Amino acid sequence: MNKHLLSIDDVGADEIQEIFTTAAEMHDVQSRQVKKLPALRGRTVINLFFEDSTRTRSSFEIAGKWLSADVINLSAKGSSASKGESLRDTVLTVTAMGIDGLVVRHGASGAAEQISRWVDVPVINAGDGTHEHPTQALLDAYTLTRKLGTLEGKHVAIVGDLTHSRVFRSNLKCLTKLGATVTAVAPPTLMPAGVGDWSKAAGFSVSYDLDEVLSGSRRADAVMMLRVQRERMSGGFFPTAREYTVGYGLTRDRLARLEPGTPILHPGPMNRGLEISADAADALDSAVLDQVSAGVAVRMSVLYHLLAGEETS
Ligand code: ASP
Repeated sequence: MNKHLLSIDDVGADEIQEIFTTAAEMHDVQSRQVKKLPALRGRTVINLFFEDSTRTRSSFEIAGKWLSADVINLSAKGSSASKGESLRDTVLTVTAMGIDGLVVRHGASGAAEQISRWVDVPVINAGDGTHEHPTQALLDAYTLTRKLGTLEGKHVAIVGDLTHSRVFRSNLKCLTKLGATVTAVAPPTLMPAGVGDWSKAAGFSVSYDLDEVLSGSRRADAVMMLRVQRERMSGGFFPTAREYTVGYGLTRDRLARLEPGTPILHPGPMNRGLEISADAADALDSAVLDQVSAGVAVRMSVLYHLLAGEETS
C-alpha cells in the first residue's frame, strides 16, 4: 500500500479488498461492549480540518480511538490558520510535535497532496475541494458490497451535483476498479465540463434522465444520491429547488417505482426534500446509516493499514 491515501489512485483493487477484509473485522468490534483494540497504541493522529464536517471527522476520531491511538482534532476556526498562518506553517507546526499521521480536509483541490510533500508521516485525504474523498468512496463501496454481495457487473447510478462532488470523483474510480459500471446522472448545469471525453476515457455512462436510469432492463442496481452543494456554487445552477427535485430528486414517486432491494446511498449531509425525499432517506432500502457505521470500520482499517506498520522512533 502507498504511504498516503490521497486519492483512489493510491489503491489497487486487491488493496481495496484487503481494506474491506480488515474493515469487516473492525466492524465486529463496533458491536462489542469494549471496543478498544491495541493496534495503534502510542501513536498520535491529528485530524486537521479546514472545512466543516460531521461524519468524516467524528468517524476518524472514533476509528483512531478504537485502535488506541491518541487523536487530536484541529479545525481552522480554532487554530492559528484563522490568524493568517500559512497552510505550510500550520502543517509543519503540528508535525513538529511528533505525530504519526495526518488526516486532512481542505477546501482547495490538491491540498492533501501538497501537504504530503511537506511531511514525512502518512497523510489521509478526508476531502480536498471538488477533487477526491477516498475514504468516503471506500466506505460506499464496502456498504454496497455487503448489500449486493459483489460489485462485479453491478450498475450504480450516481445522481446529483456532480460538478462540485469529490465523492463522485472518488466513487467513480473505486466502483469501476471493483468491476461495477457507473452512470452519472445530473442536469446539464451540474454535469462536469468535458464529461463526454472523460466518460469515454474512464468507461462510464452519462444520462440526463433519472427515470430512464431507474427503470428498464439496464436499470441501476444501486442509487447514490449526492448533495446539492450550495456552498460551492456561485450563481444559479437550476431555476428553482422545486424544478431540481422534479427532474433529479429521489422523490416519493420515484422511490415507489424502484425495484425493492435497490440500495439507496447518500454520503450526507442530506438536503431532505431537495435531492432526496424523507421517504427515500428513511426507506427500508436506505443505506445511509449503514454508510455511517461502515465509515468507522473502513477508517479503522485505513488507519491500521497506513499506520500500524510504520516504525516509531
Ligand atoms: N460529506 C461529503 C463531502 O464532504 C459530501 C457532501 O458534503 O455533500 O464531500
